[in-house]
Amino acid sequence: MKNIKFRKAFLSISLLVVSISIEAASVQEQMAEFPAVKAAVEELVLANHILYDQNAVDGYGHISIRNPNNSNTFFLARSLAPSVVTVDDIMEFDMNGKALNGDTRTAYGERFIHSGILRNRPDINSVIHGHAASILPYGLTGTTLKPVYHMSAFLGEGAPIFEIRNFAKPSPDTDMFISNNDLGDALSKIMGLQYFVLMRGHGYAAGADSIKKVVFRSIYAIQNASIQSEAMKMGVVQYLTPGEASASQETIEKTIGRPWQLWSERVKKP
Ligand code: MN
Repeated sequence: MKNIKFRKAFLSISLLVVSISIEAASVQEQMAEFPAVKAAVEELVLANHILYDQNAVDGYGHISIRNPNNSNTFFLARSLAPSVVTVDDIMEFDMNGKALNGDTRTAYGERFIHSGILRNRPDINSVIHGHAASILPYGLTGTTLKPVYHMSAFLGEGAPIFEIRNFAKPSPDTDMFISNNDLGDALSKIMGLQYFVLMRGHGYAAGADSIKKVVFRSIYAIQNASIQSEAMKMGVVQYLTPGEASASQETIEKTIGRPWQLWSERVKKP
């Protein structure tokens, strides 16, 4: 009897070890085994370079992609400037922002922006966080960032603003960072069902179902912010109506392969 119990315990420990070793396949091993993972990680690296080349990020800012082979994990670079990220720098995280595969390299302190949105939004697979200067005045003043043209139609009826003071505990005075899961959840809650959220005194987070689309949305939301600010100085601004926004979003987002090709060629040049 004792022997059977011992055997059972041994068997369950063995199964646990097997399951841990399956989960512990490194990013490189997953890339070798699953073509979709290889494609996603390589596109993620390219997107890092494009975002820098297009002035969407500088030394700060990051982009993630949900693991196409496991919807409960995501890929994100280790703590590096986006322009220098390579395939070897990509780490894998669970939906609580915990690094997987025994990877102990330094991660971005704000990975909880990604885990928070990806955990709460199954329709979003890729998230960008950045601090583009033209975006900042909207979060600071409470002025709604709204689509002024078809390129940023996804902004719909306007981007919500996340006020960290309303969620920070125990004190409303923080370092402004989304540095834990509670703040990640709060950011996602304010984003609601939209794809862009302003962060007061900090920047923004954008989401989409693909890397290409979230890069497209970030680049054109930043341009929208510049155009809107210029137009507001001149007079009353005509924004897209909700009907125009929804119709033009559908049309324009079918064509994002075109600018993606241009952006890719620019960063692939030796
Ligand atoms: Mn930040």
